[in-house]
Amino acid sequence: MSVDCVFCKIINRELDADIVYEDEKAIAFKDINPAAPVHILVVPRKHIPSLKDLEKSDEALIGHLHTIANEIAKAFKLDNKGYRIVINCGADAGQIVFHLHLHLLGGRPLLQTIAKGRGV
Ligand code: 5GP
Ligand code: ZN
Repeated sequence: MSVDCVFCKIINRELDADIVYEDEKAIAFKDINPAAPVHILVVPRKHIPSLKDLEKSDEALIGHLHTIANEIAKAFKLDNKGYRIVINCGADAGQIVFHLHLHLLGGRPLLQTIAKGRGV
């Protein structure tokens, strides 16, 4: 938990979000500024600032986040046509929220291979 972290505030219900999934380890909610028809953020409850801060003991957690993303993709009927998972790590990748999260993007062809923002 980090007091100034927007995603910790969503996890602690201090800020509203359109939550589509949650369990004891993670939560998933719609991105407030979607870059695709389906744009969902899959977020661990544990406050890990960035991918580079991942520890060996977080390996199962990062795997869990991917499994959740797959389940949500299926629930949103993306599994036939495909989808993209993005993790932005640090300033050059455009990371703006420093609480680790996966972007799940789909619902339209994602033409560019480098995925960020409007260009996804
Ligand atoms: P990043 O560039 O850090 O990987 O992406 C952070 C994402 O979080 C952005 O796509 C942004 O639209 C989203 N975001 C930022 N603040 C909020 C918020 O308060 N609620 C929700 N639902 N999404 C947010
Ligand atoms: Zn946080």
